[in-house]
Amino acid sequence: MVGIPEDFIEGSGNPALDAARLLRQRLEVNRGFGWDMPVGSASRASVPTQSAVSGEIEDREAVLESIRAEVADCTLCGLCEGRTQTVFGVGNKSARILFVGEGPGRDEDLAGEPFVGRAGKLLDKIIQAMGLAREEVYIANIVKCRPPENRNPATEEMAACFPYLERQVKALQPEVICALGGVAAKALLSTDLSVGRLRGEFHEYAGIPVRVTYHPAYLLRSPGEKKKAWEDIKALMAHIGLRLPA
Ligand code: SF4
Repeated sequence: MVGIPEDFIEGSGNPALDAARLLRQRLEVNRGFGWDMPVGSASRASVPTQSAVSGEIEDREAVLESIRAEVADCTLCGLCEGRTQTVFGVGNKSARILFVGEGPGRDEDLAGEPFVGRAGKLLDKIIQAMGLAREEVYIANIVKCRPPENRNPATEEMAACFPYLERQVKALQPEVICALGGVAAKALLSTDLSVGRLRGEFHEYAGIPVRVTYHPAYLLRSPGEKKKAWEDIKALMAHIGLRLPA
């Protein structure tokens, strides 16, 4: 059994070996689109052609850009009053894995990108430990504007903003969603159960499997829970057939 990587970082110490592993993992990430299928393969006809894939990705980008533009001007809830800018989401439009957090903090509000502060650095380490890069997954939040004093978003604020995430999910069509923390779980699964009660099994949102785990900010405060979070991540990877780096 693969144990928890120290501080969520895993590597062989051999840069060439690590690069080869990362490449193999990336091929698996893209497998859903047939990019690694050998030319002339008997099953190639059953996977989308390169141009079909390109067209699909362009469509996704267009849809996401249109939602992003709406979000940028949004004043549907009071959170618009304190924001520097909206924080829409970032990542690969063809990502198989979508991470969903609760909302931007101060660093994210300034940068316009989710998970860039200390918690974001820990999420990056988790993604690296999975053998992936941040650019290969997609990261979004339940609310797109920073709640004052980093408080949890109120129920009405989540309700106002959730349709944007709903449309993001529809455009992205990830194979699995990782809900980071109780706020994300509450909004996606319409539940008030704690992360402790929800983790350990798969749930579903819009037909997509959802794995709930602890928010990286909580893991920074409670490092003893990292082991459980890593178990959740491993289960999520296994669910879509992604192998851990050796
Ligand atoms: S949090 Fe969402 S709903 Fe509220 S103003 Fe920002 S973008 Fe609009």
